[in-house]
Amino acid sequence: MMPTQSPIWHPFTQHALQGETTKILRGEGAFLYSADGRRIMDAISSWWVVTHGHCYPHIVSAIQDQASTLNQIIFAGYTHEPAEELAAKLLQLTPASLEYVFFSDSGSTSVEVALKMALGYWNNIGKPRTRIAVMQHSYHGDTVGAMSVGARGPFNAAYEALLFDVTPIPFPEKGREWETLNALYSVCEEQIPAALIVEPLILGAGGMLMYPAWVLREMKRICQEWDVLFIADEVMTGWGRTGTLFACEQADVAPDIACYSKGLTGGSLPLAVTLCRADIFEAHYSKDRNLTFFHSSSYTANPLACAAAKANLDLWQKSDARTRVSTLVSMQEHAIQPFQADPRFANVRRTGTITALDLKANDAGYLAGIGPKLQAFFKDRNLLLRPLGNTIYVMPPYCVTAADIDQIYAAISEAADLFA
Ligand code: PLP
Repeated sequence: MMPTQSPIWHPFTQHALQGETTKILRGEGAFLYSADGRRIMDAISSWWVVTHGHCYPHIVSAIQDQASTLNQIIFAGYTHEPAEELAAKLLQLTPASLEYVFFSDSGSTSVEVALKMALGYWNNIGKPRTRIAVMQHSYHGDTVGAMSVGARGPFNAAYEALLFDVTPIPFPEKGREWETLNALYSVCEEQIPAALIVEPLILGAGGMLMYPAWVLREMKRICQEWDVLFIADEVMTGWGRTGTLFACEQADVAPDIACYSKGLTGGSLPLAVTLCRADIFEAHYSKDRNLTFFHSSSYTANPLACAAAKANLDLWQKSDARTRVSTLVSMQEHAIQPFQADPRFANVRRTGTITALDLKANDAGYLAGIGPKLQAFFKDRNLLLRPLGNTIYVMPPYCVTAADIDQIYAAISEAADLFA
């Protein structure tokens, strides 16, 4: 029977199986308040976007102030103060290799922009290259280009005909990291790619798969040796999630192109940026209009979103945000310790503020029944957790308390009693 109560088609939702959707009235800090009177802890930062907490006052007032001044303006031929200030601040906080800022609206579009910048660069300097190297199990978004550079599977099988070919290298499994690096080297030897795109340190939607900083550093070194553009997709890993402001910092890697979104506005409004090296911009700088970077969307650099992002950057520069991140890192490390030797779980892991545990369940895998069952179990306990199949991960906003963390892991242990 088709649902009748709402005309809304929700994302990544199988409506034929989904129970009732939960209506949220209000968010504050780490908590969401539902129409049916519940207080739900947001242990995944609302799809990894909320960093300081829901409705963080400094960000809310920046949006309010901006809303009565200028809330939208075409961004071709016009500019505005929030975008200019934000771009300047971003360059202060990101690797020195990055000198230009291109705005878009989501993580997926920031990846599309990165891919177009890379291909545009090689085309415009007269050495066309079209191949993109990617890492196995990656996820870069759901637009066609972003799907093409991500893992193939049930999520994109129906659109296979639209996706372009890429060259994958294996995920660096523990103890087999050199297979990844050797594969990248061979890819460069065989047909030199335009770019390599990677999620630094953690592959998010691919299963919270973590790999060490030295592998990231080596991948960058190989790219540099072969003059392959290194695209860091920091859409998920950025803004403190991995313990440092950006994951690349831990490997001392300066990307040629970098994508940031999600926590860019602290999780308040949609916005993304793709930053690039000066010579990539310069390859598009010409009296010849054919060499223009042909990309835009109507709301590029929306002033409200830029004001929110600027307020977020203030917090990273002036508040105790970094201290709250390191406190959360310690709390998470402490919380997963007892699970390390727990026979109900495998691969108990942490990078920065993110932990993940694989529940030893019979029906593992993303589309298996275990994921939705776990989700429903946690929801009954007023916890927003959204396991990736049998992989339970915890990625809370930085305002959670030790008591909140205890509550999350008590529920995880209880879930294992039922489902392992
Ligand atoms: N890149 C990475 C690494 C992501 O994790 C995501 C989303 O989860 C995206 C890109 C796509 O971002 P968005 O959902 O904002 O389009």
